Amino acid sequence: MAATLFARAWPRERVRITLVESPEIGIIGVGEGSTPLLRKFFADAGIDEAEWMPRCNATYKLNIRFSGWSTRPGCASYSHPFPTQVDVHTTRAFFVNCLTRRLGLDVETRPDVFNLNAVLATARKGPQAAETFPFEVQYGYHFDSALLGSFLRERACAMGVEHRQARVARIEQHEDGQLRSLHTDAGEVIEGDFFVDCTGFASLLSQQTLGVAFKPFAANLYNDSAVVMPTPHMAPISPETRSVALSAGWCWHIPLTNRMGNGYVYSSRYLGADAAEAELRRHLGLLESDVVARHLQMRVGQVERHWSHNCLALGLSGGFIEPLEATALHLVQVGIEAFIRKFDLDGLNPTARDDYNRFMDERFERVRDYIVAHYRLNSRQDSAYWLDNARNDQLSNPLRSVLNAWHGRADLAAELDRLQIDSHFGALSWHCLLSGYGAFPPLAAGQPPPGTGDRYIELKVERFLQRCAINFRSLDECLPWADLPPARA
Ligand SMILES: Cc1cc2nc3c(=O)[nH]c(=O)nc-3n(C[C@H](O)[C@H](O)[C@H](O)COP(=O)(O)OP(=O)(O)OC[C@H]3O[C@@H](n4cnc5c(N)ncnc54)[C@H](O)[C@@H]3O)c2cc1C
Repeated sequence: MAATLFARAWPRERVRITLVESPEIGIIGVGEGSTPLLRKFFADAGIDEAEWMPRCNATYKLNIRFSGWSTRPGCASYSHPFPTQVDVHTTRAFFVNCLTRRLGLDVETRPDVFNLNAVLATARKGPQAAETFPFEVQYGYHFDSALLGSFLRERACAMGVEHRQARVARIEQHEDGQLRSLHTDAGEVIEGDFFVDCTGFASLLSQQTLGVAFKPFAANLYNDSAVVMPTPHMAPISPETRSVALSAGWCWHIPLTNRMGNGYVYSSRYLGADAAEAELRRHLGLLESDVVARHLQMRVGQVERHWSHNCLALGLSGGFIEPLEATALHLVQVGIEAFIRKFDLDGLNPTARDDYNRFMDERFERVRDYIVAHYRLNSRQDSAYWLDNARNDQLSNPLRSVLNAWHGRADLAAELDRLQIDSHFGALSWHCLLSGYGAFPPLAAGQPPPGTGDRYIELKVERFLQRCAINFRSLDECLPWADLPPARA
């Protein structure tokens, strides 16, 4: 991603880029879900969906559906949709109902009822609407990360990036500590003015060579392991990532055109690797199967300085927040775009570097808050893992303010605006999370029985969204190149 966007931003006469990777070490090979920002990446890179999606077995993603995280009545599952333009017409009703419910009155607050993408995902519709439909729909993608990596490598090389396949065995520094060159195991020396460390959790340049410190997030994000197991499609696929709570973490289900990606993200403090694999197999109905599971360790946290000396740490080498909201590639892209802006404006000077570091640190911390809130609001009672998460008081000040505003019946959107944190996760996302978990006080006394109150707002919204949904094609029609047998049957 970095090589592609850098090559696009700067002509080869100005900046020469060399991409080094070791086929022997390989890539981590997970990371199959995106946010809508990835659309901008492909637009900026000048790559059409029809070109990359078939090559990467990609499908569309409209939302994430969380199941089994809350035991509160009516909250068995909820959708966190990507906000669309249409939601402008329904968001007010959603927010008003959430406030009304926080005041103790019984009204509809399920996010699924108020957001277009949730309605489309339930109806198995893709994001492509009739040409006459006057609103923009936001969506992300699911894809095979190994195939996307190869595709981007090809594109970057076609744009003039030099590609070397070699293992970096030694790194040479100048006297002042700046990086000077990479020495490969084939004896080649690659010199550079500026280095981008994309070496994954190894963080070979940033942490290992420059000694940049790592800040772990373990105090409030307990998951540090994953076990991954793909399966064939067993049912028609939907344009959504599913996140299902298990005994010591959660399992993702990501539909690609040729298979499902599944993985159990868990905490090794609460569950051993064998037990996690057995639980995942049981969950997938694969107890007797010989499908091989892949076990991964995750280093969750971020480096203290994403840009140190003449080196930028991108991707896992600079930090990782567990994949619950699929934000890792989003942060990679944010980091690349911010670096291009800084470089073009200020060059490689210390002020630009410090600004960049503050900006990236803040991005990581605010994404972290939203992920932490998922765990803090769970109401499961079935394991020490979930009980400890719900009791966890290691919350940042902004997260405390958000929760206080919600429970104190304040205007949450205004509070997010005041805190200036709505560019990370906006008011709609926070309302979905808090109402999706049913984080409400008990109902006030003397309510009309459920279903008999005034539900005018909801009905209006529901009908409006259903009318909108008529304009959209089915997911299968949106992926004409894909062979989706169970869905078409
Ligand atoms: C369980 C899990 C689930 C995830 N799910 C998502 C998701 O849904 N969405 C999302 O956006 N992200 C997700 N991620 C994160 C995502 O996988 C990564 O952000 C993404 O793959 C980028 O990885 P990377 O390039 O930083 O590291 P890697 O893929 O590990 O690549 C490291 C590269 O460095 C090279 N390298 C390392 N050492 C050397 C050396 N000595 N010499 C030469 N080359 C070297 C390797 O060959 C490789 O090419 C997930 C991560 C995990 C662990």
